[in-house]
Amino acid sequence: MKKAVNIIGAGLAGCEASYQLAKRGIPVNLFEMKPLKKSEAHHSDYYSELVCSNSLKSTNQTTSSGLLKKELELLDSLILKTAYETAVPAGDALAVDREMFSRMITEKISQNKMITVIHEEVSVLDEKSINLISTGPLTSQSLLEGLQNYTGKENLYFFDAAAPIVSFDSIDMSIAYKKSRYDKGEADYINCSMNREQYDQFYHTLISSETIELKDFEKKKIYEGCMPVEVMAKRGYDTLRFGPMKPVGLDDHAYAVVQLRQDNSAGTLYNIVGFQTNLKFGEQEKLIKMIPGLKNVKVERFGVMHKNSYLNAPQLLNSFSQFKVHPDLFAAGQLSGVEGYMESTMSGLACGINISRYYNQQPMITFPQETMTGALLSYISDSFKQNFQPINSNFGILMSLEKNSYQKNEKKQAYYNRAVEVMKKTIEAYSI
Ligand SMILES: Cc1cc2nc3c(=O)[nH]c(=O)nc-3n(C[C@H](O)[C@H](O)[C@H](O)COP(=O)(O)OP(=O)(O)OC[C@H]3O[C@@H](n4cnc5c(N)ncnc54)[C@H](O)[C@@H]3O)c2cc1C
Repeated sequence: MKKAVNIIGAGLAGCEASYQLAKRGIPVNLFEMKPLKKSEAHHSDYYSELVCSNSLKSTNQTTSSGLLKKELELLDSLILKTAYETAVPAGDALAVDREMFSRMITEKISQNKMITVIHEEVSVLDEKSINLISTGPLTSQSLLEGLQNYTGKENLYFFDAAAPIVSFDSIDMSIAYKKSRYDKGEADYINCSMNREQYDQFYHTLISSETIELKDFEKKKIYEGCMPVEVMAKRGYDTLRFGPMKPVGLDDHAYAVVQLRQDNSAGTLYNIVGFQTNLKFGEQEKLIKMIPGLKNVKVERFGVMHKNSYLNAPQLLNSFSQFKVHPDLFAAGQLSGVEGYMESTMSGLACGINISRYYNQQPMITFPQETMTGALLSYISDSFKQNFQPINSNFGILMSLEKNSYQKNEKKQAYYNRAVEVMKKTIEAYSI
């Protein structure tokens, strides 16, 4: 009898990983604490519960979520297949009947002879087995405490306080400029200077913008470590000018300066320093475009603040989502630093494939960075990064295209076509 792989958490990532291992002939013990215990956001007894929206976003080829879905389809995703089987009309988005979706996945998992489901809250890992932790953004407290043995306290985070990320090639560098304060070290930052009138308009728009309503369970903790830019601004007209927008050591004529910091080693993404925010996405977009040099900028990820347990993946994980110093331990889903339903599914799927190879002592697969799968796994394990925040799929993380003179949608189509071709070749090369 082959030894089973333990998968903890029967969410989107855990169910997908279980299916991928089972279909490769590897037995799985899938641990799920529901229905005995539920997080603040989980209500149903079924697996792969969608805790909020019933939309899995666009299927359009010119969107990053459309590309991710195509890759999941090529890789035979159980979650995606079930989503199509339970779809409800939603234009070019894939939305599902959430009850039917989770019920069908629960049935498929429960009926799979290679998968044994154990209803139990796991707090301590069985170190004699290969373990995959996929317990999501609301991982139970007892497991978080147990996990600290593997991560250290400093590498396990409990909420997102993310600033927006924009793509470098959409910044107008004839207005923005590279310089470090007082010319110390390399010119690592991109600076956007504002005069008094521009700051005044920006400030008043910021303090009157609408925020996202936090859930009750989030309200208690959220601001403890990291204050949103709108809250800081409301403390006084000049607070930002003495904080993240201070104009010192840069442009002598500036009244305030917004700084952007490189966000990935390829230099295709930049985050807006100190702008962690809880504003509605439309309001963020409006404000960002008021910043000189960012008028036409492409926002690749909006700022968010919510309860979210996740690992400091760049420190802890390699590109196979395997713990660097505990090779028998893997992480997938939102806990591993991706953000979103489909991203969590992708991460479970890639982990399932790679654990099956690890189990059979075959070399694991680094998915190419031309694919959304490879780009996401590479982003979260990119040790370049400090202040890691989870990421959703976006075109900015893909390896740049060689030709640079595309129209907007042509470029996205080119990314899509290249990714699909590369993924097909990868599937063939590794007999996935
Ligand atoms: C409130 C909230 C709303 C969100 N809304 C959206 C949205 O609208 N769209 C979107 O794309 N993404 C959303 N997300 C982000 C994310 O995509 C989802 O949380 C997604 O379900 C993550 O998938 P997962 O498989 O990593 O975790 P989950 O789907 O949460 O699955 C984890 C499973 O692990 C179980 N578990 C936890 N601890 C233990 C333990 N110790 N032992 C055994 N089992 C355990 C849980 O019961 C759960 O079934 C939201 C997140 C949150 C917190």
